[in-house]
Amino acid sequence: MYGIFSYDNDNPRVGFKYGDRILDLEKVRLSGYFDSIPIDEYVFLKPVLNDFIRLGQSIHRTIGQRINALLANDAVALADVQDQVFVPQSKARMHLPVSIGDYTDFYAGIHHAENVGRIFRPDGPPLPPNYKHMPVAYHGRASSIVVSGTPIRRPTGQFLAADGNVPVVGPSQTLDFELELGLIIGKQSAFGEAVPVEEAEDYIFGITLFNDWSARDIQRWEYQPLGPFLGKNFGSTLSAWVLPFYTLEPVRIAGPVQEPTPLPYLQIHKPGHFAIDLEVWLQPEGGEEVCICRTSAQHLYWNFAQMIAHHTIGGCNLNVGDVLATGTISGTLPNSCGSLLELTWNGERAIALNDTHRQTFLADGDTVTLRAFAQIDGNSLELGPATGVIYS
Ligand code: CA
Repeated sequence: MYGIFSYDNDNPRVGFKYGDRILDLEKVRLSGYFDSIPIDEYVFLKPVLNDFIRLGQSIHRTIGQRINALLANDAVALADVQDQVFVPQSKARMHLPVSIGDYTDFYAGIHHAENVGRIFRPDGPPLPPNYKHMPVAYHGRASSIVVSGTPIRRPTGQFLAADGNVPVVGPSQTLDFELELGLIIGKQSAFGEAVPVEEAEDYIFGITLFNDWSARDIQRWEYQPLGPFLGKNFGSTLSAWVLPFYTLEPVRIAGPVQEPTPLPYLQIHKPGHFAIDLEVWLQPEGGEEVCICRTSAQHLYWNFAQMIAHHTIGGCNLNVGDVLATGTISGTLPNSCGSLLELTWNGERAIALNDTHRQTFLADGDTVTLRAFAQIDGNSLELGPATGVIYS
């Protein structure tokens, strides 16, 4: 996985995660391991991955092969440069890995969408009528996406008072997380041109974990008629490490049967889902970290290619570094929901973290950490994490 780190007083630069160490790719380049690969000599010294991403998947694969060969021969090949090319992750500072021009949040987790429908519209069908015809989304705010580890301030906003009749302004009382995957766009699409669904995956550089922190009280009062605004834009957490998309090929799986059949521009004839296990861990201030959700990316209804095809059908162009988030991913079990809204059924049922601590929405001092795992070549590859602590 690739990310941007700094160490000592050096400027931020591109690193490759290897266990609890970071491979300094500029130092690897200076040691000659990337000779004959056509890369700009400054590409690993940039404070964001965007220029590295623009090199394209063919060069990413070549660089990845060289790194793997280097690491496979760790003791031998690196003997003379070992101390220089590795940085302990514990001593590095991580930075937002990409310059994000635009951020879009989908709603592709069908069990989450059904749960939200049951909670907020109990008298109607759980899914809106458009849900199985298109990947529903809204345009989010890129400026407040922060790297994993950045504290998140509890937002102040307007919401209905407890009696439900009068709006008040104050700190959100129902602060929540949302467990999502984030796609990092790797190739620009042309303004005015739709990306065909069969080519859409070519536009993905990599996968991250994404926490779309959500203030439910603010969201519920403001979201009609134009959708989420201040209930969502006070902060979103992106993992520091980005996994190249091609790495996931061994865990590609078929998604759910899509019935009714989508319109032709959303029909794709190869499996587009990925077996990625997902977890949410919650740690109250001074307490133990507890896993409160285990689920899987297989619970997405729409796949990544369909999200991109839909995003561009009208001619909206994608740029390198854009983030497309999947929407909250929930399973069908009570402990497989990717938000406290669902885990506590809108705060009605507190969840037990241990014998004494029960929880509804987030308290100040709570740390939420998203983790993900893919079983690749007999190894458990960990994505992320995406973590943040709440403060006021
Ligand atoms: Ca979301």
